[in-house]
Amino acid sequence: MAKDEYDILLSGASLRGEDGVGVSVITDSVVLTKKWIGTYKSQKEEILDFVFSNMSLNSILLVNCRATPETELTTSIEMLQPIINDNMVLVHNGGVTDIIHQELESKEYEFITSIDSECILQAYKKYGYNIKNTMEYLVGSFAFVLVDLKKNKIYAVTSFNPLAHMYIRGYGYFLHSDNECLGQILESLTGQTQDGVNVWESWYHHYLDGYTIIETDLQSGFQFKQNYEPRFLHPVWNKNVSDKKEKVLVVASGGIDSGLTSYVLKKVGYDVEMIHFLYGQKSQECELWAVKKLGEQYSIPVRIIDLRPFYSSLPEKGMLTSDDVEIQSGGNLIKSTIAWCSNRNAVFATMTITIAESMITSNEAEKVFISAGWYQLSEETGSYPDNSFKFNEALSELKKYSCITGCYIYFLPVMQRITKTEEWVLGSTFDFPFHYTVSCDSPQMVDGVPHLCTECGSTKLSILASDRANVLDHRKFVVSRPQLSKPMLVPNVTNIIERLVLPEDKKEVLKNLIKG
Ligand SMILES: [Zn+2]
Repeated sequence: MAKDEYDILLSGASLRGEDGVGVSVITDSVVLTKKWIGTYKSQKEEILDFVFSNMSLNSILLVNCRATPETELTTSIEMLQPIINDNMVLVHNGGVTDIIHQELESKEYEFITSIDSECILQAYKKYGYNIKNTMEYLVGSFAFVLVDLKKNKIYAVTSFNPLAHMYIRGYGYFLHSDNECLGQILESLTGQTQDGVNVWESWYHHYLDGYTIIETDLQSGFQFKQNYEPRFLHPVWNKNVSDKKEKVLVVASGGIDSGLTSYVLKKVGYDVEMIHFLYGQKSQECELWAVKKLGEQYSIPVRIIDLRPFYSSLPEKGMLTSDDVEIQSGGNLIKSTIAWCSNRNAVFATMTITIAESMITSNEAEKVFISAGWYQLSEETGSYPDNSFKFNEALSELKKYSCITGCYIYFLPVMQRITKTEEWVLGSTFDFPFHYTVSCDSPQMVDGVPHLCTECGSTKLSILASDRANVLDHRKFVVSRPQLSKPMLVPNVTNIIERLVLPEDKKEVLKNLIKG
């Protein structure tokens, strides 16, 4: 690499701190280190000379630019990384909680610096040079590179601080806190800007996932990636409390998708609770009737969350909530987002994640599964982005960083791979009370029982599904129920059960119920 390219790497690093620069060049286990107080920019020539003159083909370069934290008055030379101790060289972006520092010191680990990052090296010793155990002990925030010269390994570790890696054939392996900076290097070296477009990969560069350890063997170049379970402190949460429950929360609208999901989960033995949201929807009274009926009949508790003050405070003019907007979801707009309600499923999902986390931190539940009706194949085809596989992926990413209990919260998109027609087949097999559901954008309460319109998209889709599945529809309608489809050939129920997103043993429970 040319000096210019080292300059790109170091300039990128200096974006994370302007108070000092530390550089180590490791060649054949010999570590050369130099540190400078002040900005990279002001001492650029000297720093680049040091790097360029010492780097050779098999060298490892470690650089850290320091920003003086609020807890320190100033930066002195001894506060600069890399930290070198006992054949280990470390650069760390992040912080380690004081209590860990005290604990390690009290157990006679001799610190050679006053930098909290040194805890990583000391904990690594304490845990017998096992990096995963080290990470599950440490508390703090992490993006670091640790070179262990005894084991001949490089560990790249990140919790939720930025750490990106890149490989370019012929140049080597890079780790950096800024992925864009790696992109610039790639462009400078290869003239290319894209990430991993070749079938025969000549390069890649991207951020590492959270809570990841990448171990590189310096001899063979073999890489081994693993995740670790981060340790977070909480005043009440105790992972060792026994007899904790496994809970399932289902975001339940009162419709078929979420109702059947709750019903199936209960049938296979989960401790289920339905979470129902009031947001000023036109179908509110009828939906509430439905979730309560289902809950009463099958001993599934219902938690009702009133978001009406919030939703009514919005300038929202949506079909589901505003009297000024007529229901028009049933015609040629059926596969569209015409019935959209601002960020609705994400609001419901994140509130449900909140309930899940509080159950875990209060030691009520060990782990919580979350499900909902929006995980549904027909709905996804219906063009709602918040009913999609991607939405589920996004939530799975979110809970890793929005919760400290993310490792104990799971999503169970039970109906993700089956259609509404198949739901009718499944439901009728297990005597699901379809007449206790309301899948309609504007139902009416008549004599205390919801009656569905026959015009909206939700009702039409559910009528189509029931006709196709050839299942008698006992729900009530405002006018006589039209027939919208002829019966079609449907997969048998065992096939449908196979495609449910459920643990295998739970699918077996369902299959045994059919036989019984
Ligand atoms: Zn309707």
